[in-house]
Amino acid sequence: MAGNWKMYKTPAETKAFFDAFLQLVAEAKHCEIAICPPFVNIHAAVEASRGTRVGVGAQNLYWKNEGAFTGEVSGPMIKASGAAWVIIGHSERRQYFGETDATVLERTKAALAAGLKPIVCVGERLEEREAGRTDAVLAEQFNGGIAPLDADAFAKIVIAYEPVWAIGTGRTATPEMAADAHRVLRGLVSAKYGAVAGAAIRILYGGSVKPDNVKGLMAQPEIDGALVGGASLEAASFASIVNF
Ligand code: PEP
Repeated sequence: MAGNWKMYKTPAETKAFFDAFLQLVAEAKHCEIAICPPFVNIHAAVEASRGTRVGVGAQNLYWKNEGAFTGEVSGPMIKASGAAWVIIGHSERRQYFGETDATVLERTKAALAAGLKPIVCVGERLEEREAGRTDAVLAEQFNGGIAPLDADAFAKIVIAYEPVWAIGTGRTATPEMAADAHRVLRGLVSAKYGAVAGAAIRILYGGSVKPDNVKGLMAQPEIDGALVGGASLEAASFASIVNF
């Protein structure tokens, strides 16, 4: 269960979140938990979660280790800050910051080289779904951004299926729609990396996951977890999702 805080919260607000959240998930042993705050809050999140089962992640990274790349943050920097995870290719990055499948691949390789665990996002836009192109878009994103990884690298990633029309809109994919897309992705994985990898890959669903719809989504065997935006900003709300 991963929380994507997007561009919300200060270091003090991060600490306050963890003070409340950690008590609420103290008994949660059934899943891994990660919070992905803005870069400037990673230190506060790592300090606040030290010694707990809650991991910390970044929301992006650049693929060079260092250099004259003003405004960018590298994998080794994120790793040295104590984070374990990194979200890659979120639709907001694709939509507003020119992220492409090719850069998703570069970032994923860089994350793995730095010892970070990538959560690689894919998902179709509304017009693509309405044009019946969902499966084709997922295949394009998988083939361009993920499939060039070798099998050892692939085994270390998590995929997040996030239909763009469901992100931050309050409009969730039905559990069946999400499961259908997860099956498509699992099929692509099996075709490229074999049936064992297809069964083993963890695929998170993301898109307006809330305390009141998480149970139905998680009842689908295809859905291994959730990547949660808005509902991860409040401790009680994200804890209730984790404890579904
Ligand atoms: C996200 O940011 O990855 C996301 C799924 O957002 P939300 O839960 O707010 O739709």
